[in-house]
Amino acid sequence: MKKPNIVILGAGYGGIMTAVKLQKSLGANDANVTLVNKHNYHYQTTWLHENAAGTLHHDRTRIQIKDVVNTSKVNFVQDTVTEIKPDEKKVYLENGDLSYDYLVIGLGFEAATFGIPGLEEHAYMINNINSARLIRQHIEYNFAKYNNEAERNQERLNIVVGGAGFTGIEFVGELANRVPELCKEYDVPRENVRIINVEAAPTALPGFDPALVEYAMNSLEARGVEFKIGAMIKEVTPHKLVFEKDEQREEIPTNTVVWAAGVRGNSLVEKAGFESNRGRTPVSDELRPNGYDDVFIVGDCALIMNEESGRPYPPTAQIAIQQAEHTAANLKRLINGDGHLEPFTPDLKGTVASLGHDDAIGVVFDDKKLFGWSASAMKKVIDNRYLLKLGGLPLVLKKGKLNFFH
Ligand code: FAD
Ligand code: NAD
Repeated sequence: MKKPNIVILGAGYGGIMTAVKLQKSLGANDANVTLVNKHNYHYQTTWLHENAAGTLHHDRTRIQIKDVVNTSKVNFVQDTVTEIKPDEKKVYLENGDLSYDYLVIGLGFEAATFGIPGLEEHAYMINNINSARLIRQHIEYNFAKYNNEAERNQERLNIVVGGAGFTGIEFVGELANRVPELCKEYDVPRENVRIINVEAAPTALPGFDPALVEYAMNSLEARGVEFKIGAMIKEVTPHKLVFEKDEQREEIPTNTVVWAAGVRGNSLVEKAGFESNRGRTPVSDELRPNGYDDVFIVGDCALIMNEESGRPYPPTAQIAIQQAEHTAANLKRLINGDGHLEPFTPDLKGTVASLGHDDAIGVVFDDKKLFGWSASAMKKVIDNRYLLKLGGLPLVLKKGKLNFFH
């Protein structure tokens, strides 16, 4: 009998975990498993804000795919997906094409820019290793340049972060620690540098526990972060950011705007013709799009509803990993001829957000609030647990966050 072709697109949390689980559970004669990814490395998206601020080198964040995927069991193709044609059961890549019997889509997120003028052209985004590295280099270049110009240019030292959701808050937490180091290195007075976080909602971290939000803002303000709350970003140019607050337009001179104010699913999913809402496709309980029983969608490209709140679950690594494990188990059922697939239910353990390497806030195990050292230690435990799942103890020792007291 012909072995079915399972093709997995993307080696983010969703894609690589599906591949690693399948390589453990399927026998060599069960299926051909192919993993396609743009780069020869997997990266931990949840650490990119540290790479962007320059508090953690990006080589700690990326993991060579061959170090966790057994390439004698899974065929790894380093290439970029250009088109998915579900009616032909085919995927087109920059350098070829692949046919599948089962497809797993884990192509992740893109920044949502909501049509705001100038954002695409002039703002920086924390999307992947390349874009995070560019932000670090750009900030450092501006510090270096500042003392090399006859006229001091404040645009170079105003760092503006759009959005005080989890990404924005985590990024300004890293910046607050990094800026004093940069000031020292480039002989720039700390008081000349501004880190400004602009948020449209009436609070930072809308929807999160108010006492923890207050703790986070106090911690960040004490380290020099300025908040503009209730301030809607309207435009970005090469030299300024424009926002509207209390019906007044205000401008901040800057050549560093980092946009962390929302994500959408990969646009390839939309172009494939699946029903989708900003690149996120509503999927069934078995994580399949309507009308395509041979396609599974995991991670940020999948839209699943929280029946209790009546709203979609926010896209997180936590859910992507669980969906991947679930999909690998369902694929094994399909390959083994068991037509009954298990429905997916997220098992949320909580949310923890870092405020730099030694401070954090979180709500875990339903309603336990954490802040400070205990939250920061919990965040490191969560990160290490993922590495343990992905590559066992050797990977934890190589890439893990083991310094709990710093
Ligand atoms: P991704 O992690 O985005 O991976 C997608 C993969 O697909 C990448 O490897 C990419 O290279 C590849 N790819 C994309 N396009 C193509 C193409 N055309 N061809 C080939 N390959 C392609 N969530 C949490 O639960 N906890 C956190 O603490 C947390 N922190 C975060 C911090 C930051 C700074 C950010 C930005 C997000 C954070 N999130 C967190 C959200 C979390 O990172 C995402 O939900 C998660 O990364 C989604 O996983 P994914 O597998 O869907 O996609
Ligand atoms: P988000 O959508 O959660 O937050 C974006 C923020 O930007 C919102 O507060 C929104 O009000 C604000 N905003 C939108 N448009 C704006 C405008 N024009 N001007 C000013 N502010 C504007 O996006 P995110 O923070 O990138 O997070 C994306 C996903 O990743 C979420 O699901 C989040 O839960 C997850 N995440 C989790 C963690 C964690 O668990 N530690 C960390 C980062 C991200």
